[in-house]
Amino acid sequence: MFRRISQFCKQLFENNKVAPVLEEPIQEDGLRLDIISRDGHSISRRQISENALKVLYRLNKSGYKAYLVGGGVRDILLGLEPKDFDVATNATPDDIKKLFRNCRLVGRRFRLAHIVFGRDVIEVATFRGHHNESNDKVSKSNAEGRLLRDNVYGEIDEDAERRDFTINALYYDISDYSIRSYGGGLADLNARTIKLIGDPDTRYREDPVRMLRAVRFATKLDMQIDPVTADPIKALAPLLSDIPAARMYEEVLKLFFAGKAEANYNMMQRFGLFAPLFPQVSALIEELPKGQTAKMLQVVMRNTDIRVSEDKTVTPAFFFAAILWYPVKQRADDIAIESGLTHYDAYVAAMGDVLEKQCLTISLPRRFSTPARDIWQLQLRLERGQGTRAFKLLEHPKFRAAYDLLLLRGEVEAGNIAKIAEWWKAFVEADETDRSDIAKSIKGSNTRNRNAPQRKRRRKPAAKPAEE
Ligand code: ATP
Ligand code: MG
Repeated sequence: MFRRISQFCKQLFENNKVAPVLEEPIQEDGLRLDIISRDGHSISRRQISENALKVLYRLNKSGYKAYLVGGGVRDILLGLEPKDFDVATNATPDDIKKLFRNCRLVGRRFRLAHIVFGRDVIEVATFRGHHNESNDKVSKSNAEGRLLRDNVYGEIDEDAERRDFTINALYYDISDYSIRSYGGGLADLNARTIKLIGDPDTRYREDPVRMLRAVRFATKLDMQIDPVTADPIKALAPLLSDIPAARMYEEVLKLFFAGKAEANYNMMQRFGLFAPLFPQVSALIEELPKGQTAKMLQVVMRNTDIRVSEDKTVTPAFFFAAILWYPVKQRADDIAIESGLTHYDAYVAAMGDVLEKQCLTISLPRRFSTPARDIWQLQLRLERGQGTRAFKLLEHPKFRAAYDLLLLRGEVEAGNIAKIAEWWKAFVEADETDRSDIAKSIKGSNTRNRNAPQRKRRRKPAAKPAEE
């Protein structure tokens, strides 16, 4: 149903493509500017949230310029429902704070104002300007050209140049309801092209996350990345390993939990963008025989998309537990062989190692890493816990997630794990009385875990060579 509505909106949009009413495209040294007056485009205030309108009007009535910008404008023009509404203004963060009691100033790299309406937050950003002389307090870059601070304020034209893609440099003016389209943003929207503003190499170095954003918008909006914008990505992808892990976590949520995980994953692999985020998983894709890791990734991504489309919950605990399962298993095997620890202890040590390493690039909050560990530990118990012990396992709070992972492993690994997964499936899906029969039926059969790494056998010291 939703698909049909969005298809209809798309067609509507395509049929009356917003013909830009060009009021002197401004070229000069800056970006081209097209201004589309109120009757030349399809955005109406009804499509903008009440809270965003409140913020826009209050800024405007207080004498400031106020625009809806970015995804809000882009998505409405495409017939999609915007995820959130962002506002750009010439009021400084301190001015904004004075105007709104419900305002919180956030961010260091970019100082922003959040206007909070319960769970709804309207992000208000002051126009960014160019960094001329270097003043560490307001702007700063590292040796690779990455912007560590970007708090120089400027005019709307400069602000547009500092945005990432042309399709995001669209501003809806609340004072006269016109749209300002910079750098050919509207034409690119019509042509379904993702084009970076400015020199791609410089813009990716300033902020490597833009490479991930290019992929995300391409899949979300069903657009092509312009070849000039796509070209440097492969070479610059390793710069992603330098992004603060907390920011990367936010990006990962947007990439994998919004219904486009599989498409994003495939495109990230094509551009070499997956490995810097998940180095341990990536190493196994190349190393491990039988392609288990690669298959698990495909299955998890597809599965997550299906759950999102069915409005089921998706949790980072399960996602990370699933894609890091083979690195944990591999590490546990290594530890068991090297140290002679028991199967269980080797796994516990491996979980700690793998999580610690993963958190260097993506900081998974503890509220998710703790249940991820539970899901892993339960794998061991599920592998051995058929028979009457199964009833107890069923009551574990993380049973469902662990069982789901076991099913995915069955799909990926086949063989013994697939048989165990099948047994659990029959058990879980049966009613109470049948469950007892299923549990009893396993009695006497061999439930030894054949997947457990073998402990290192102590060899007898080799006989000393006979003395001559
Ligand atoms: P969505 O909210 O649907 O993910 P969006 O385009 O609104 O898409 P936001 O992250 O909300 O994305 O950012 C709002 C706007 O801020 C963007 O449209 C873009 O103009 C600008 N922006 C965001 N991130 C960057 C960045 N890394 N570099 C330059 N500009 C950016
Ligand atoms: Mg947004």
